[in-house]
Amino acid sequence: MKKIILMSFLAAACTTNQVQQPAIPKDEQVEKQVEKALSNLSLDEKIGQMCELTIDVITDGQSQDFRLNEEALQKVFGKYHVGSILNVPKGVAQKPEVWSTLIRRLNQLSMEACAGVPQIYGVDQIHGASYTWGATMFPQEVGQAASFNRDIPRRVSEIAAYESRACLIPWVYSPVMDLGRQPLWSRMWESYGEDVYLNCEMARQAVLGYQGDNPNHIAPDRVAACLKHYMAYGVPVSGKDRTPSSVTEREMREKFFQPFRAAIQAGALSVMVNSSVNNGVPFHANAKYLNTWLKEELQWDGMIVTDWADINNICLRDHVAATKKDAICMAINAGIDMSMVPYEVEFCDLLRELVNEGRVSKARIDDAVRRILRLKIRLGLLDKETWDKDTKSLAEEFPNFACEDFAREAEQMAEECMVLLKNENVGTEGNALLPLKEGARILVCGPNADNLRGMNGGWSYTWQGERTNELAPQMGQYSTFQKALKERFGEANVQYLQGVQWDEKDFNLDHQAADWNQLTAAARRADVVIACIGENSYCETPGNINDLNLSDNQKDMVRLLAQAGKPVVLVLAEGRPRILREIEPLCQAVVHTFLPSNYGGTALARLLAGDSDFTGRMPYTYPKYTGSLVTYDYKPCENMGQMEGNYNYDAVMDVQWPFGYGLHYTTLSYANMQVDKTNFRQGDILKVTVDVTNTGKCATKESVLLFSSDLVASITPDNRRLRAFEKVDLQPGQTKTVTLQLPASDLSFVDHNDQWVLEPGDFRLFIADQQVMVRCDK
Ligand code: BGC
Repeated sequence: MKKIILMSFLAAACTTNQVQQPAIPKDEQVEKQVEKALSNLSLDEKIGQMCELTIDVITDGQSQDFRLNEEALQKVFGKYHVGSILNVPKGVAQKPEVWSTLIRRLNQLSMEACAGVPQIYGVDQIHGASYTWGATMFPQEVGQAASFNRDIPRRVSEIAAYESRACLIPWVYSPVMDLGRQPLWSRMWESYGEDVYLNCEMARQAVLGYQGDNPNHIAPDRVAACLKHYMAYGVPVSGKDRTPSSVTEREMREKFFQPFRAAIQAGALSVMVNSSVNNGVPFHANAKYLNTWLKEELQWDGMIVTDWADINNICLRDHVAATKKDAICMAINAGIDMSMVPYEVEFCDLLRELVNEGRVSKARIDDAVRRILRLKIRLGLLDKETWDKDTKSLAEEFPNFACEDFAREAEQMAEECMVLLKNENVGTEGNALLPLKEGARILVCGPNADNLRGMNGGWSYTWQGERTNELAPQMGQYSTFQKALKERFGEANVQYLQGVQWDEKDFNLDHQAADWNQLTAAARRADVVIACIGENSYCETPGNINDLNLSDNQKDMVRLLAQAGKPVVLVLAEGRPRILREIEPLCQAVVHTFLPSNYGGTALARLLAGDSDFTGRMPYTYPKYTGSLVTYDYKPCENMGQMEGNYNYDAVMDVQWPFGYGLHYTTLSYANMQVDKTNFRQGDILKVTVDVTNTGKCATKESVLLFSSDLVASITPDNRRLRAFEKVDLQPGQTKTVTLQLPASDLSFVDHNDQWVLEPGDFRLFIADQQVMVRCDK
């Protein structure tokens, strides 16, 4: 079989020997400024620019309120010229005036201490300005992905940028674009799910939302994005955070690199590195991935920052370097530009020694500092006017901070991010359980029924999100699920009982023994029971689990409710899919809310009442068994019936809900799928059309998903791959012809030689129940 080695723009970017356009076009003015600023810096100042410290280092630890420590400031800026500070003061969301006063002061000090170059402040504002008091909070990324609507990540990041810049925060550590393909991983919810294409599309939009469309000149109401965590962070073999992955170079290129490439080509200005190791090599010491793939192949002139303490980890945790100094040497030479140290200025001393010893070249230092300066210049930070603003002028410049319109947008987004997974017919009339009837008597229960914390997840006001129930109500009128149901269905019709907690071991929460009798009696009195189950908030390593099963006490609660004989609606709020195979058949309806944030209650109540239709779809495969964790793009041998002969080869795909699954209240039908070329060659763009009709009674939006299957390939092909999608509005009775573009190069894969190839042969393209065959000619 003759292979076509791809030369097209899309795939060429991935091969090592292709010359292409720089990811971000050079801007002469910017480059001149970079050279000028660089020429004014001494070696010590340059090294200081490469050091990032946490705010705790310069905080007065003695005082209750947040106060800077003047002595530490002198050391950090006066002596070491540190180039960046990160993290939220006191570990908890701060008011815009606290942020802006802090950042203005740090900028002034650092600018004076470092030849006019201010520090750059970086914050994890990841689903809205989530470390800012009162800011608008949006569904977490996994929910945004479930919307299959590109406008959502775009708008979330636009507003997050606006509300960050209202605090003078210029740099956010978002979006996460690690493919969420390991359900145990405690950061599944921070990702756009398991699929490559979906991650590429959503991450690209997030970058444009944060930065706008001119990466050389970031507008005063936009911020620099930081793509993380480069790369394959979402597939730890053990499922535990920051533990090794085992991805081949072929898969790395074909799947994990792709979203980074897409987002970099959308102009992303910075990248944060995966904390862990792949096949024995710490990502922070992997020159091939950092220097060659990112910087050289993509001709990307952006800046690479480490994750938390990860240069030290090369030595102290991974034992790949004997000393911290050797680790710094490895990382900087591998392509790291800035170290999120985050506690010790010792990094600067050791790096200076390495330069003096000739182990790190001055040219490498200049390259790293150019990249840091370029980021600051692109953000306008060297121009005092962009940040030398007092609280009053910022309030005037950003009048829409946390405005009512943003709240309404967040609520609408939360609606689009929820997925209807089951909706059985019930009762004598045999109607679907949802939408609920007006006047229905509802029992709402479960650990997430009255819990803004569970709805928001981690990175919400604090790292672990553990103070959300205390803090969020001080900032706005947010309705938990139970409160919103009372508002929508009438206080008298809705009874709330918590039932059980998430888990026996839940931290920070009093464990209450469930009062089963009370719960059973309440369920019997109700017409329908809504069980809000799932997980509490967590993030990173504290979110590690040993068992993907939903906790026994939650399952027991659902069993008890089902025994009462009334239909049960499961409402899931969880950061990763917890196995619920045993209780799902006991429930007549299931809704996944992901982590919808503060407006999730109102959104859920509207959906359950049928005020809007469900339009979300699963962004990952929901597993049915703990020992069968698969993704939708599995290999053919993972789904086989019994083989002929006496070899009983049985590997049947059996999942709870597949990727892309999602029901509506309305009904839809597809027809007339067509493709403009049944035979194509490399370089062609296939135009696929399909008619979709809303055959039901309510208005909806439908995400039209185009998949492909390569029938024969020199590497066993993926079962299927998402290749394009479009979300369209449909009124009852309306038909729309949807057109999807499919560049032939997207049907390629990475072969044994780590090269992108498009092999001649047959491909099946399909949308819902429609399909067409196409053939790639030699
Ligand atoms: C996380 C990153 C985060 C960084 C800074 C790390 O522990 O892995 O996602 O951006 O901390 O807060």
